[in-house]
Amino acid sequence: MAIDGPAGAGKSTVTRRVAERLGYTRVDTGALYRAVAWLTIERGVHLDDVAGVARIARELAEPGAIALGPSSEGTKITVLGRDVSTDIRAQQVGLAASQTSQLPEVRAALLDMQRELGRDGGVVLEGRDIGSVVFPDAEAKFFLTASSRVRAERRRAELLERGDAPSLEQVQSEVEERDRRDSLRSVAPLVRADDAVLVDSSELGIDQVVETMVARVQAVAAELAQRNARA
Ligand code: C5P
Repeated sequence: MAIDGPAGAGKSTVTRRVAERLGYTRVDTGALYRAVAWLTIERGVHLDDVAGVARIARELAEPGAIALGPSSEGTKITVLGRDVSTDIRAQQVGLAASQTSQLPEVRAALLDMQRELGRDGGVVLEGRDIGSVVFPDAEAKFFLTASSRVRAERRRAELLERGDAPSLEQVQSEVEERDRRDSLRSVAPLVRADDAVLVDSSELGIDQVVETMVARVQAVAAELAQRNARA
């Protein structure tokens, strides 16, 4: 199952809830892109240094370099043995990730890792290009979005909880900047796959979004079971 969409549309919360309901494993692919950006910053490599960033992405694509798993707060991620679950959530890392994720070398390095994580099925992957590039044959695909104002309000509430206090205007302009980069990049831009179901969470509550998705996945699973029984 694939859930794509822009920053702040509620993907993480929705993915967690849907995974719980269906007994699926949740894979937060944004954490992988954030890990690359985090290590780039940590090592003092310039974000424009394509060869340097690509080297970091390849290093992290080596088996065991990144350990990813769900945790009660979201995603637990270990990079080269260090728990960076909190560090990668910094606003600065998110913005850097939207820059480094534009590099074809970075996307190629992370592609196999994502396919490996979803290989056995029973997973819900959240990201930007899961339904369009990583798993074009996913059984159920959703594109979850919301207006940039609503997404900025949600993002700001999260940041306030963590002790940051940016203005709504600032957060909204960062959200829009991130959308622009994610949508305009030449490799695997943020687009809705033709067969992804569009869900707008601007006015829907989380519960309604979760119900919509769970119902759809169950319908698809029932259809597949019927088809298999006939075959
Ligand atoms: O989802 P999250 O905000 O954690 O993602 C951080 C950044 O990683 C995004 O802004 C996007 O540029 C990049 N990303 C991506 N493809 C994915 C997941 C995330 O390019 N599948």
